[in-house]
Amino acid sequence: MNRSSPGFSAPAKKSLGQHFLADRHYIDRIVRAINPKPGDTLVEIGPGQGAITLPLLREHPELTVIEFDRDLVGPLAAAAEPLGRLTIVHRDVLSVDFTELAAGRRIRLVGNLPYNISSPILFHALQHAGVVADMHFMLQKEVVDRMAAAPGSKVYGRLSVMLQAWCEVTSLFVVPPGAFRPPPKVDSAVVRLVPRDPAGVGIDDPRRFADVVRAAFGQRRKTLRNALHNVCDARQFELAGVRPDARAEQLEVAEFVRLANAPG
Ligand code: SAM
Repeated sequence: MNRSSPGFSAPAKKSLGQHFLADRHYIDRIVRAINPKPGDTLVEIGPGQGAITLPLLREHPELTVIEFDRDLVGPLAAAAEPLGRLTIVHRDVLSVDFTELAAGRRIRLVGNLPYNISSPILFHALQHAGVVADMHFMLQKEVVDRMAAAPGSKVYGRLSVMLQAWCEVTSLFVVPPGAFRPPPKVDSAVVRLVPRDPAGVGIDDPRRFADVVRAAFGQRRKTLRNALHNVCDARQFELAGVRPDARAEQLEVAEFVRLANAPG
């Protein structure tokens, strides 16, 4: 295995989901997948000891990072100093307003995410999809499989529909536990999300859409007629052209959109 020496090292904190990337091969693949271009506004979530940050800075000498662990902030700033301009936002990423951070530009989000809060981070980023050009995230492989799943798959569910409605989702490659220090118990994978043009998404009311998807998959073994009995009536199924005896896991994203948009 191809070990990388990070800019510094500190003991990993389990409570912050710290598994530091330590394999040069996978770090290079992530940087290549991001493929930073001059003029991009890059924002990294959870830079940790700089495994991705420092190679990215070598390619793109301006970068903003959001890191919650106070102990990492000083050493990271020092390691980045000779390479470029690193702005460190010392905050919980879930409290960061990406739209404010973007300040009129479109940002490219990247990160080897803390797995314990990866879904909340994804939904937080979705709320700011209008200012996000794309996202490259490392997550548990099982989560990436769910994000990218197609109808009919056992792992197709709420996360798949909610993300695919707003973004194009592409699973890029798998990263084994041995690439991290300390190694996690599971495989990881890198995923690319590209937000769709909001006009093309076609969802009339995002809250209603989220409610329909949540209720449909809340009881995924039931027919939609039963799972959605408080949410959609027979006429709405008819207007949407969706069979009420289907199950949530069989429905295309576009069918969920039509069902949520059908007037009540
Ligand atoms: N990017 C580094 C790497 O690949 O080696 C570290 C990745 S580690 C899986 C996750 C990072 O997210 C850690 O540095 C951790 O301190 C940070 N983190 C955890 N919770 C956070 C939060 N709520 N807001 C911002 N950063 C957080």
